[in-house]
Amino acid sequence: MTDLLIQNGRVIDPSQQLDQKADVLVRDGLIAAVGHDVSADGAPRFDASGCVVAPGFIDLHAHLRQPGREHAETIESGGRAAAAGGFTSVLAMPNTQPVNDNAAVTHFIIQTARGQSPVNVYPVGAISEGSRGERLAPIGEMRDAGIVAISDDGRPVMNSDLMRHAMSYASGFGLTVMDHCEDLDLSAGGQMHEGLTALRHGLAGISSASEEVMVSRNILLAARTGARFHVAHLSTAGSLDMVRHAKRRGLPITCEVTPHHFTLTDEDVKDYDANYKMKPPLRSRQDRDALLEGLADGTVDAIATDHAPHPGSEKMQEFDLAPFGVIGFETALGLALDRLVHSGLITLTRFIELFTINPARIVGLDRGTLAPGAVADVTVFNPERRWIYDVNQSFSRSRNTPFQGVSLRGGPVATIVGGRIVWQISR
Ligand SMILES: [Zn+2]
Ligand SMILES: [Zn+2]
Repeated sequence: MTDLLIQNGRVIDPSQQLDQKADVLVRDGLIAAVGHDVSADGAPRFDASGCVVAPGFIDLHAHLRQPGREHAETIESGGRAAAAGGFTSVLAMPNTQPVNDNAAVTHFIIQTARGQSPVNVYPVGAISEGSRGERLAPIGEMRDAGIVAISDDGRPVMNSDLMRHAMSYASGFGLTVMDHCEDLDLSAGGQMHEGLTALRHGLAGISSASEEVMVSRNILLAARTGARFHVAHLSTAGSLDMVRHAKRRGLPITCEVTPHHFTLTDEDVKDYDANYKMKPPLRSRQDRDALLEGLADGTVDAIATDHAPHPGSEKMQEFDLAPFGVIGFETALGLALDRLVHSGLITLTRFIELFTINPARIVGLDRGTLAPGAVADVTVFNPERRWIYDVNQSFSRSRNTPFQGVSLRGGPVATIVGGRIVWQISR
């Protein structure tokens, strides 16, 4: 019995073209009604005055590090950080130790999340055994065990024939292929975006072409196989143009961008600080501006964090030795509200769509909506709340962020999963 009445908020649900002041009634963990004068007889109340009440936010791309790298993150700590960021669901990338390339690991992640994570965790299965890019992983078995997509994120598939097979299987199973698009020969040895800043820092560059070659390859293979292909953490203007073109041709191609790629550029990489080191790297100003345009014109389908925890012991070393990746759950909403909505680039409705119904559709989740009968996953946020991010208060086990101390306008207030408040801001 999970009942709740969320009162006095502005309910915005792009899946139903809804934007009105209303109450949301939850009965037995499901949305029972959205409207005025909803009769709640005795259900506990949550006052959402001054806040927006939206479907629960979904992060298509995160690394929870369990099994195998629990010193960096666990399903529990990552789940708590996600909840504190306003997310009700996250997709867990398969590059754990062992890799999620079989049903046993998939089961382990689902069972652990059920017991320990405050948010829903949906595992992504590997494309190839051990993500070694040699033989396909047992995709059907993993699908039966509960994966919602396949990806070799972190160790992208270089062999085009293997990718073609993976896409054929995936389309047969109704699974989306998410690729970290990087030609590892073109990017070999690279530390940051290839450009003037890399030159000045004396660091080897990662070219835009190393991403674009693979985006182009994958679009061609998706067109041949009929697979649904999703570009993970798209970072260059050229990649975005190809996605735009593919969409015009009616292909089922989608893409996500991360908050760090739409806020920062390679010029922000300072003092060899490894908290600015990630893959794909922070790109040029022109690339960043292209991503903003794609967010505004609808080419970009979703915002995903690529939350990638690394402990200080590994991240606090010379730039070229430090691992790639930054954490992102707790800053994503605030950065998107501050930089995209308050700048006038996108509307609140579009902002919510990027985090809810769009990601749900990309992987076929029955989430991202407040329609009656849906699971009551709800994100409550205050678009006006001013706050300063302090990573030392983070629920994550890791601290690797380029956003320490950033001041933001807008942030999450409460996260509700299946009708239960799993996180709320102290007020
Ligand atoms: Zn990646
Ligand atoms: Zn990733």
